[in-house]
Amino acid sequence: MSLESNELRDLYQEVILDHNRRPRNFGALADANRTAVGHNPLCGDRLQVFLHVAGDRVQDISFQGSGCAISTASASLMTEALKGKTVAEAHALFESFHGLVTRGEGDPGALGKLAVLSGVREFPIRVKCATLAWHTLEAALEQQEQPVSTE
Ligand code: ZN
Repeated sequence: MSLESNELRDLYQEVILDHNRRPRNFGALADANRTAVGHNPLCGDRLQVFLHVAGDRVQDISFQGSGCAISTASASLMTEALKGKTVAEAHALFESFHGLVTRGEGDPGALGKLAVLSGVREFPIRVKCATLAWHTLEAALEQQEQPVSTE
């Protein structure tokens, strides 16, 4: 392994540890209109994702729960990446992220900070930890919106 990839790996590790220590967008979202709970029994990770979707946009997003460093960091990074994105962009990012961590596909550069989790591909059991927040997100997005009527 070259020096550069060792340095890159250290940098990735640092970002993961930082997001685990200080998870971003952590806690329940007061005005959430979609939420879902996810559980990864293989590791014991449990988390809940909260979304405030308005029109076709993720206006706000948060999560809470407890789990290993990978699951917490992944959820934290996901909330950062998705805030303000459209629902279509959120689905596309899920597909890209999933392809990267399960099959090493895609362009890590297009994933921004989420690429720090690309290393989990070498540890199949950790892939479940890294994708838990995303599967929970998909479940929350699939919920029907509360019917809104002005008539
Ligand atoms: Zn885990």
